[in-house]
Amino acid sequence: MTIPQTARTLARSLTVLGSTGSVGLSTLDIVRHSRATYGEDALPLQALTAHSNVAALAQQAREFHPRLAVIGDESKFQALKEALAGTGVEVAAGRDAVIEAASRPSDIVMLAIVGTAGLAPALAAVKRGAVIALANKECIVAAGDFFRAAAAQANATIIPVDSEHNAAFQVLDPGQAHAIERLTLTASGGPFREWARERMASATPEQAISHPNWSMGAKISVDSATLMNKGLELIEAHFLFSLPPEKLGVLVHPQSVVHCLVSYIDGSTLAHLSAPDMRTPIAHAIGWPQRISSPSRRLDLAALQKLTFENADAQRFPCLGLATECLRAGGHAPTILNAANEVAVQAFLGRRIGFLDIPRVVEETLATDRNASNGETSDLDAVLAVDGRARSVAKDICRTMAA
Ligand code: NAD
Ligand code: MG
Repeated sequence: MTIPQTARTLARSLTVLGSTGSVGLSTLDIVRHSRATYGEDALPLQALTAHSNVAALAQQAREFHPRLAVIGDESKFQALKEALAGTGVEVAAGRDAVIEAASRPSDIVMLAIVGTAGLAPALAAVKRGAVIALANKECIVAAGDFFRAAAAQANATIIPVDSEHNAAFQVLDPGQAHAIERLTLTASGGPFREWARERMASATPEQAISHPNWSMGAKISVDSATLMNKGLELIEAHFLFSLPPEKLGVLVHPQSVVHCLVSYIDGSTLAHLSAPDMRTPIAHAIGWPQRISSPSRRLDLAALQKLTFENADAQRFPCLGLATECLRAGGHAPTILNAANEVAVQAFLGRRIGFLDIPRVVEETLATDRNASNGETSDLDAVLAVDGRARSVAKDICRTMAA
């Protein structure tokens, strides 16, 4: 008897790292939908991990029955243990336990932790040759060469979840890589697309995280408001698809319907369209190479009537230019850019610096740490050292600005 492909696809086990975040919740919505659509055995869960929200993690574990639930914050072990008493779910806590969760055998690992904190768990999953559904972009920006080499060595499969990269993965013909003229990522433009710089100077965290089209975690929402998100995504695309900087571009597309365009030497441009709903790229990454059902919003182009495109304004959004320079410079520049940006965004969210200080912190950190930009990136210790030093430089700069 032949097992239908879809049944085989849905029998694969899943680990969700960062299950309580925006991408984590959407991933579990796909699991919920798959079990309702295809049967309750669909997508058995190996592990769920979260950083500090015990109540949300415990509630997820009760609904989805993973073998293991891990809370990153060690001080919350007892609370999680009590919340899951009698459920049969194994409980663990701490940074190493999150890494251990990634190491446990599961077919697919959804990497939905935010920031460079996702790097060590990602590498643990990579090393055992898992399929990685990669939502976290910071780890590939910070350690691109190393991450790519580790994946190739362990025969791990990386399926991009970031909507633009998932779109590129779908329309890019790997057999014709030499014939790609340009890969264009679209950007919504964020909540400040039409704001003058003077107005941005007093933008609050609440204004920065209220994104017009996507509902996302705080860090990526601020990155979308500065356009650093698109800069990080250019670097992500460079590493994921082995394309040189000059073949990568950005277009502002406020409707967020076209996610990526790939143009070939014969004049053809292939685009991917979907409603702005992360459950579509998540379902694609989990189901790949099959297609599985998703409850995502559907496209209604007639209701939308028009799709518009414009160039990004580098004057008002200097983060995009900084990221492009780091992409071209290579070496450790993307690692420094990413670390400084993580620090600056935290400082902004904590109201210690202003919105326009974010690019200043990044620029000053890059200037202070310029010599570090030339090193090799294929050595993890070197990457972590550069990341740590850039963070400490950026924190000093934030302190000076706040004073
Ligand atoms: P989020 O802040 O909503 O969630 C982050 C998750 O990571 C939470 O579960 C949190 O508990 C966990 N976490 C945070 N710090 C941790 C740590 N130190 N150790 C272990 N776990 C930790 O973030 P998000 O919006 O879901 O984004 C997650 C990643 O996906 C980011 O890298 C983001 O750039 C990328 N991404 C998100 C979206 C989106 O729509 N939200 C789209 C594309 C890409
Ligand atoms: Mg994206």
